[in-house]
Amino acid sequence: MKRELIFLGPPACGKGTQTNHLSEYLGFPHIDTGSLLRAEIAKETEDGLIAKSFIDKGHLAPVRIVGNIIGKRLAEKDCEAGFVLDGYPRSMEQALILEEIREKLDGDNKVDFKAIYFDIDTKILIERIIYRQSCPKCGTIYNKKFKPSKVENICDICGVELKTRADDTEEIAKERFNTYYEQTAPLIEFYENKGVLHKIDANGSIEEVWNRLRKIIEG
Ligand code: AMP
Repeated sequence: MKRELIFLGPPACGKGTQTNHLSEYLGFPHIDTGSLLRAEIAKETEDGLIAKSFIDKGHLAPVRIVGNIIGKRLAEKDCEAGFVLDGYPRSMEQALILEEIREKLDGDNKVDFKAIYFDIDTKILIERIIYRQSCPKCGTIYNKKFKPSKVENICDICGVELKTRADDTEEIAKERFNTYYEQTAPLIEFYENKGVLHKIDANGSIEEVWNRLRKIIEG
């Protein structure tokens, strides 16, 4: 049966790390709207440049732009057996668009659909964001305060210079949290009412959270 897994949770809750790992584990593509949008920005496409003006303020990129990106991506062949969707939907409007996309793709076929919510103590998250660095080559995430690279600003694995995301400043991060609480958090109840929500305790080490996630996936 096709498996469709979507992930909800505040910025920097660890979804990226866990969903990356999960997609390798299950052999399904990891589809992350934040990265897809950053790729559009890097290519300087028209939609990318429009999206950038929202991302730079900590707001959601326009529904049309993200909907188009996701609609096309989920229709690709490598999503036929399943996908791990990270960062979409982020609003009620997007959740309804996702239902339409899924109806078109899956028709009456039975699908194992799960919405997994990362429940975490948000006090530490701002520091996770403002000290975050990542490797542009292998994607490994570091944190200058909690998980520094061995040599400052250099990836332990690839030896290339680490990058900081343009929207990982304190000011933008605070706005991203406001956006999350106003627009994304209501989806928890939406999926709970549909009986597809799985809550995971996202506090603790990467390994602890991974073990909890695997139980949900295999359970
Ligand atoms: P992330 O990499 O998931 O932290 O996302 C970075 C930024 O990309 C967010 O703060 C939003 O501005 C934008 N973004 C990511 N996913 C979406 C989405 N589903 N809808 C609208 N904007 C998004």
